[in-house]
Amino acid sequence: MRIARVFPTKLSMTPTDQDAYFSGPEMFMPKYDVVHVSCQFTWDIPKAKRLVREWEHIAPVKLGGVAIDGESDQPFQSGMYLKKGITITTRGCPNNCGFCMVRKGGLIEFDDFPQGNIIQDNNILACSDCHWRLVVDMLKKQKAIEFKGGLDKYRVTPQRAEDLRSLKIKTLWLACDQPQGVEPLRKAIDILLKAGFTRNHLYCYVLIGDDLAENESRLKEVWNAGAMPFAQLFRNKEDNIKYSKEWKQFTRKWSRPAIIRNIMKGLTNAK
Ligand code: SF4
Repeated sequence: MRIARVFPTKLSMTPTDQDAYFSGPEMFMPKYDVVHVSCQFTWDIPKAKRLVREWEHIAPVKLGGVAIDGESDQPFQSGMYLKKGITITTRGCPNNCGFCMVRKGGLIEFDDFPQGNIIQDNNILACSDCHWRLVVDMLKKQKAIEFKGGLDKYRVTPQRAEDLRSLKIKTLWLACDQPQGVEPLRKAIDILLKAGFTRNHLYCYVLIGDDLAENESRLKEVWNAGAMPFAQLFRNKEDNIKYSKEWKQFTRKWSRPAIIRNIMKGLTNAK
């Protein structure tokens, strides 16, 4: 069965093969049996619905994705809605952060998951030791490994840090979304630094957009802890927050490693 996949937004992880589309059908189209419109963000829902109408004359259309159905409880299919090389080995998260749309009710572990060097699980460190071993064994055959789904700072242990150190890691991602997160983050980074990682491996998402002074101080704390901060401007479900030019420039500055290095070096030299 030939499936066209249609995405309202093109992101770095969106597939770009010949059956992936980002707008309405073209003049000359291959024959498709079905069209899947995949919507990841609530703010994309109106565009996704428009795409459904535009594709209806090509083949039967199914609208789905996290923003429509919530997170799936089914095993991950490689290359279908995310680029090849990305894998997901578990679904859900045992934590219960209020703002998060990840499926609640515990973690589902799949023994059989696609190989890949980019781990996109929501909370891979919440998995059992048995599942962790399967993931580590799979990753032993991979290069340039990235934990883009993020490592839960409360679950980084010396043992798991050692396991990670035995792999060809490119980047490990953590998150520090609130001021209370700085201290636990520092402990997690400490464990990872002791295992032999450096700032070149350790990146940290920092949610910003409310208080410029606090946000800047948190970004600097992340750097001082030993990781490279990566600012992410908060977006609500409707994506209707209008940020000023100052906020946009601030976000750009704090999401570019070369600029961040200069800022932080300048601060150190000025002391
Ligand atoms: S830890 Fe992350 S994935 Fe889990 S509920 Fe919180 S924000 Fe969501």
